Amino acid sequence: LIGADGSIRPTIFAEMSALAAKTGAINLGQGFPDEDGPGEVLEAARAAISAGVNQYPPGRGLPDLLTAIAEHQQRFYGLIVDPGSEVLVTAGATEALAAALLALVDDEDDEVVVFEPYYDSYAAIVALSGARLVTVPLSWPEFQPDLDELRAAFTERTRVILVNDPHNPTGAVFAPEVQAEVVRLAHLHDAVIITDEVYEHLAFDAPHVPIATLPGAYERTLTISSGGKTFSTTGWKIGWITGPAPLIDAVLAVKQFLTYVNGAPFQPAIAVGLRLSDEFFRSIADTLRAKRDILGAGLRAAGFETSVSSGGYFTVADAGPLGASDAADFCRELPHRAGVVAIPLTAFASTSGRDRYATLVRFAACKKVGVLEDAASRLAALR
Ligand code: PMP
Ligand code: GLN
Repeated sequence: LIGADGSIRPTIFAEMSALAAKTGAINLGQGFPDEDGPGEVLEAARAAISAGVNQYPPGRGLPDLLTAIAEHQQRFYGLIVDPGSEVLVTAGATEALAAALLALVDDEDDEVVVFEPYYDSYAAIVALSGARLVTVPLSWPEFQPDLDELRAAFTERTRVILVNDPHNPTGAVFAPEVQAEVVRLAHLHDAVIITDEVYEHLAFDAPHVPIATLPGAYERTLTISSGGKTFSTTGWKIGWITGPAPLIDAVLAVKQFLTYVNGAPFQPAIAVGLRLSDEFFRSIADTLRAKRDILGAGLRAAGFETSVSSGGYFTVADAGPLGASDAADFCRELPHRAGVVAIPLTAFASTSGRDRYATLVRFAACKKVGVLEDAASRLAALR
């Protein structure tokens, strides 16, 4: 994380977005949409600013948003959560992850099990907490964990299993038997499940199933989501965490000293979003599925092999068939060779796990159709 000279390394997303800006390449690296989300949501933020919702909101979040989050959990998943004690608004999913991990683990005697590759902040926060990261590999092209390897990762020191479903960077949606095994092992080892479900409304094949809905899971699960992906408002940084009151209280105890509270006028706007019609929620998954297909076809026509993304913003492609042996080098050259930026999967892996992903590259599909088509025709130059 921190270099010998005390410098803090930029995240892979900052580095690759800077490369896209410098070279004028199409940025299929960092996952953010290039179009605004629903007008009602944007308008509600403007209206809140005009109405004077501009000072510190309550620490847990504005009551209307807490209620909207609770309603959303019931409407989509049948989960009953108490808005007053079982919901906490955070600065995006990122702060929810940080506050939850800092609340639950302390030092190297505590272990956090995580699937690898993983979203980059997971390893950083576990490092900041002082705990030990224990990885369970996901392998090309299905990216489902081997259940024996999952079992072997748990020890008497396991405090947390951190799951991300749908999964960034692989696009995997975990099979029911994987989810069930996570819950069984968490019980067996008295561990807390932290589940990052920021892509909950972007599952392509079947409605998303939160781990918290599995029998016996709720009492030991913290479920994290964010308005960023669902409403294309990644810059607003309004996220939330739901779960049993004692766990939420522990997260709040940390959160209050990280950010204290979060963006007041964005909170009623995200509440409006969470109450949009079923049709809206269906349409965002349908739109992204179509974009995934355009990107996938473009990648295959350019000579990559692709895995099938079942949810979320990303598709993983193997650049091996194009002669690449090191995806990081390949991604550094890609803007110059083809005018496209992407991210090597090794950026989401530990030093010891990296080799497994040596030739794999993550491409973002959350861009305008015209941009994806342009990227596809540029990538054809690699042939
Ligand atoms: N978790 C995952 C899996 C993500 O992909 C992202 C980033 N988009 C985040 C967390 C962070 O979300 P937020 O922007 O709400 O902090
Ligand atoms: N979640 C997005 C990604 O994985 C962006 C994250 C970020 O910029 N920190 O690309």
